[in-house]
Amino acid sequence: MKSYDADCVIVGAGCAGLSLATAIIEQGLPSNAKILLLDSREQYTRDHNWCFFDARRHPFEAAVQHRFPRWAVRHSGRTIERASSGMSYVHVPADRFYEIAQARIASSNKGAELRLGTDVSQLVETAQGVVVHTSRGEIRTKHVFDSRPLKTAKSPSHVHLLQHFLGHEIEADSPVFEPGVATLMDFDVDQSRGIHFIYVLPFTKTRALVESTFFTESVLDESVYKEAIARYMRERFRVSDYSVVDRERGVIPMTTQPFDAQPSAHVSRIGLAGGFAKPSTGYAFLASQRYAEEAARTFRRGGDLTAIGARPTRSVFLDAVFLSFLKHHPEQAPSIFRRLFEKTAPDVLVRFLSEEGSRLDDLRVMKSLPTLAFMLETAKSAGSWKDAL
Ligand SMILES: Cc1cc2nc3c(=O)[nH]c(=O)nc-3n(C[C@H](O)[C@H](O)[C@H](O)COP(=O)(O)OP(=O)(O)OC[C@H]3O[C@@H](n4cnc5c(N)ncnc54)[C@H](O)[C@@H]3O)c2cc1C
Repeated sequence: MKSYDADCVIVGAGCAGLSLATAIIEQGLPSNAKILLLDSREQYTRDHNWCFFDARRHPFEAAVQHRFPRWAVRHSGRTIERASSGMSYVHVPADRFYEIAQARIASSNKGAELRLGTDVSQLVETAQGVVVHTSRGEIRTKHVFDSRPLKTAKSPSHVHLLQHFLGHEIEADSPVFEPGVATLMDFDVDQSRGIHFIYVLPFTKTRALVESTFFTESVLDESVYKEAIARYMRERFRVSDYSVVDRERGVIPMTTQPFDAQPSAHVSRIGLAGGFAKPSTGYAFLASQRYAEEAARTFRRGGDLTAIGARPTRSVFLDAVFLSFLKHHPEQAPSIFRRLFEKTAPDVLVRFLSEEGSRLDDLRVMKSLPTLAFMLETAKSAGSWKDAL
């Protein structure tokens, strides 16, 4: 392949793809370089609410709509409320994120181009690059970043849970919510179907995103989540009548199985398909920013794009042990999470959850967990973390 249509093609212009394009543009596209983003969707809507601790700088600061300086975890009638010295839990609605990314692409003087309504069916590796087969013809490129959802056969030696949830953005008649405090997990709800909690993101005193979330092996009927939200509103806030102004449904894999992030010499998988989601939380927004920054630097200097990882290798081990514990002892999950928030210093825990921590942070987090139980789990789960290290 002698000539290329683009230096790199980003397949899927969602969170990971747009973050990567934005980082490449912000760091300065090399002159005459061309990046192309392809997405099968026809338009952008507010299809996600991305929340995370602002533990690292990122180009989407202007998209942050709500900040929560305090956060809470609740179990057995006790609420653990915490705050960090400088970090908040923040909310980025997807529509704002998409607007910022599209504005950056528009500012690139055609160095970057976004083509919506373009379905990618196949990537064919050649000696010098990749031919991208799309619903609008073929594109030749040196490198592909692929964020299309991936279906992989499940290995029985690994833990496979799903984080599945339904969220209702609720407008209540009375001022029942407390803006500024995000309830990350309220376990004082029905646990008969497995690990279950309610998540409350209060936008105003009357409006909040309320989500019923499970960490189990299979997705439930929509009515289960709806009833859990309605019951929570009644029992926790004494609110029976409310309007649902928006909804969000999601399923995120929580697995210890390694992702094949580098399927061939000129293709890198990114986003959920590349294993960006932290297995024990399902969070992937900050990992997308971390990867984007490093990949953009590497792209700019013409370095090896296949050598970049989104997540620190050492967190693979801790996540595997933690996930294995959740699978084998789901009944202990509420007390373990409460203990984690209660006994770990907030700054340390936030850095750890955001994968921005040090080895010392990891040790401090481990110290706040029940040592014997987790040592046994470390031995039991060896099959699921050894091959990933
Ligand atoms: C509802 C929901 C809420 C979440 N909330 C959070 C959160 O609060 N915090 C957090 O850190 N993480 C969260 N996550 C996890 C993760 O951050 C998101 O899933 C994130 O969107 C993953 O980015 P991605 O680029 O992998 O996928 P997407 O953002 O889904 O992007 C993939 C893109 O690929 C396109 N595509 C698919 N197939 C094709 C094809 N054949 N050809 C061309 N294009 C294609 C899609 O149209 C899409 O635009 C959430 C996940 C979900 C599902």
